[in-house]
Amino acid sequence: MNREPTFENALAFAADLIRIPSMSGEEGEVAARLQEEMRVLGFDRVEVDGLGSVAGVVRGRGDAPPVMLSCHLDVVAEGAHEEWEHPPFSGEVVDGHLHGRGAMDIKGPMALQVYAAAALADRAPGDVIVGQVVYEERGGWGMENLVRSGLVNPAAVIIGESTYGDIALGHRGRAQLEVVIRGLAGHASAPDRARNALDLLPGVLTGVAALARRQESDPVLGLASLAPTDVRVRPESPNVIPDEVIVVLDWRILPADTEASLIGRVEDAIAEVLPDVPAGYAIECRLASERQTSYTGRSADRNLLTPGFLMEPDHAVVTAAAKAVGRRGDPATSAHCRPWTFATDGGWTCGVFGIPTIGFAPGEERYAHTNRERLDVEEARWAFSRYPSLILAVQEAAGSG
Ligand SMILES: [Zn+2]
Repeated sequence: MNREPTFENALAFAADLIRIPSMSGEEGEVAARLQEEMRVLGFDRVEVDGLGSVAGVVRGRGDAPPVMLSCHLDVVAEGAHEEWEHPPFSGEVVDGHLHGRGAMDIKGPMALQVYAAAALADRAPGDVIVGQVVYEERGGWGMENLVRSGLVNPAAVIIGESTYGDIALGHRGRAQLEVVIRGLAGHASAPDRARNALDLLPGVLTGVAALARRQESDPVLGLASLAPTDVRVRPESPNVIPDEVIVVLDWRILPADTEASLIGRVEDAIAEVLPDVPAGYAIECRLASERQTSYTGRSADRNLLTPGFLMEPDHAVVTAAAKAVGRRGDPATSAHCRPWTFATDGGWTCGVFGIPTIGFAPGEERYAHTNRERLDVEEARWAFSRYPSLILAVQEAAGSG
């Protein structure tokens, strides 16, 4: 090891990471910087998967099942620089806070994870993996690929999205759907010769509104929610009758929801209002997708569906984590356990792959994705001090379960 795994060094590394912009698909430079740091810190293995996600391994003293700490390499756009109180890529520490895009979501917590793992070299009962993935902010392609690739095979995962020191045990998922209404285009001066796709828009919106009023609820995660958020008309011309209208739906979903069940419910809700689609028209419900390209040059059309997940509050990993972390200022009392309001890669690790997953990190949710993003340095120092016992407790609980 050529660098001591101290909090001060972790903080300096976090500032370095903030200075490297890394939008989804442009994480190459930050990934390289991360690999360099892992090597300097004496990680036993540092590997990169096909999409460019980085997995570093710190070997344990035994063969207990590996635990993976995970954040993501990408950040959201910073917006107008002049609206930031501190420049978004400065990484400066002012008034006890680390500032900039990624300070809390998620380069600050990422640096803490990398250093916490390094500090446990030869101390943990099994390997500690640090998996930092691409494309989290656009639905989780990086995490899905990292686990599917087999490069990592963790028995439990600790996600470093901000929890303000609590233990997070799940979240709703998000699905973006589209209802496509198709008709026949024509000149606006002769509507009889056309089939105006807009004619069926009221029926579609009425059906969606009825479905939105009867959303299911989970006692921990709360209510699912559905909202139409956009209507796109094609061709987009004031004197042409459109043959295609796309209604965009944002759906915050519960862990049991699947692509098929979501589409089926929208179809049924529309069919209640429009039992017989008039001749010359068609209605299709589908998941929205977008073309994504990794910095390593791979492309895929990705469905815009981030799964939800929920760990049982009395799962051994959850209770062990809460006890190990304790409350700030009251270490003898178990940490508060609650869901996140936003979605994370835990939807993949736990919701899809069934790996026990919890969240722990400093930082307040309200600063995420804003131009006031910051991380309280003393809170981060406390979280860093809790990480070793958290990792050891989760590893032990995952092995016994
Ligand atoms: Zn994040």
